[in-house]
Amino acid sequence: MKSSSQRSLKIIQRLQKAYPNAGPMLKFSSRFELLVAVVLSAQSTDEQVNRVTSVLFREANRPEDFAAMELSELEERIKGVGLYKNKARSIKNLSVQLMEQYGGEVPGDYEALLQLPGVGTKSANVIMAVGFGKPGLGVDTHVHRVTNRLGLVQEKTPEKTEKALKELLPQKLWSISHHLFIFHGRQVCKARKPACEQCCVEDLCAKNIL
Ligand code: SF4
Repeated sequence: MKSSSQRSLKIIQRLQKAYPNAGPMLKFSSRFELLVAVVLSAQSTDEQVNRVTSVLFREANRPEDFAAMELSELEERIKGVGLYKNKARSIKNLSVQLMEQYGGEVPGDYEALLQLPGVGTKSANVIMAVGFGKPGLGVDTHVHRVTNRLGLVQEKTPEKTEKALKELLPQKLWSISHHLFIFHGRQVCKARKPACEQCCVEDLCAKNIL
């Protein structure tokens, strides 16, 4: 068997060919909009989030807007996504925090992002990579499932998968790998029934080589 590192590079090359347009699906036009969209996306689809933000951002898209908004109004505006009450509270509180601590700017620092309400490790990685072009490898349910099925990592939780993938992959591939594994997980290596017969990396998958 090839080493995991060689195999991972080959897999990423193939996925790049299969998904040349892999990239963020959330719509945003500033780092703050990205931050809000990422917070809204927990346990919701990107389509649901884009539907909500396409209306929301026309009215409010700066920390000062959300800091000043009544919680009940914000809840009403983001009702189209799951867990909207918790998310409304997070968006309002993180807006206040950005105003008080960062002059209304989103900090480009991983540890600082993790201190914001509603921002966990996956979200902080996505904001670092997509918003700042810095190394970040967010592990959501797709990335966790696909990389474990491929046998690139053997981990029980997304947090452990993130750590193992970051050790396995060169930093310059972190961001694109995140998008490629998500695209592959959505389109082929689906949760319930992976379409292995259509998979461009089937010959490199753990089920065939380990
Ligand atoms: S061969 Fe099947 S299990 Fe392996 S990555 Fe492809 S779709 Fe997923």
